[in-house]
Amino acid sequence: MINIAIDGPAGSGKSTLAKNIAKEFNILYLDTGAMYRTIALAMKQNNIDVNNEKLVVEHLNKVNLEIKYINSAQHVFLDGVDVSKDIRANEISMLASTVSKIKLVRKKLVEMQRKIASQNDCVLDGRDIGTYVLPSAALKIFLIATPEVRAKRRKEELAQNGIEVEYDDLLNEIKARDLQDSTRSFAPLKKADDAIEIDTSNNTIEDTFKQAVNLASKFFK
Ligand code: C5P
Repeated sequence: MINIAIDGPAGSGKSTLAKNIAKEFNILYLDTGAMYRTIALAMKQNNIDVNNEKLVVEHLNKVNLEIKYINSAQHVFLDGVDVSKDIRANEISMLASTVSKIKLVRKKLVEMQRKIASQNDCVLDGRDIGTYVLPSAALKIFLIATPEVRAKRRKEELAQNGIEVEYDDLLNEIKARDLQDSTRSFAPLKKADDAIEIDTSNNTIEDTFKQAVNLASKFFK
């Protein structure tokens, strides 16, 4: 199977690029952040403090997370309920980052990710796809952009979903989340040695897409 890994910090343009790549080459798109968000939502719904590793791990076995594709779009289900919209609430971002530090949470989700990647040509976006989940992915792309650009994008994305958050709050949150994601001990956010870095700060969506298509096209002849 051909697997493409797209990693990078929040707001660097991973999901937009991954969706466009999936469409271009007619392959599956797996948004792994959505999986961590779903675990965070499950903990919140059960009033479990995501900082309490023992309680999170105890509850983890009861979390029934499923991924389904509806009209080619990924949906996440929790106990049979489609929570794809609920996981986009802004407060879930930081909860997901905190819950994702827990090794057993990562093990459970990485196992699912590797299974999907072994059965489908796919593009996965996340933080540790190139370094940990699929170290032998055909192509690894690492996207970066300044925190200011990323906060602005995040504001626009939330606004499109009818959620208004102050720019300064988003900027602070993005910096805090990057720090937590890149300093955790297990599978942190990190560029793989063999990943190709693209700085999207001054790129249009089309610019980044063209660069990535150039890199990926040789695998789909
Ligand atoms: O990409 P997204 O912002 O939806 O991810 C939410 C959080 O999930 C990230 O801040 C990160 O802590 C975690 N995550 C991760 N590994 C991945 C994908 C996401 O740790 N592969």
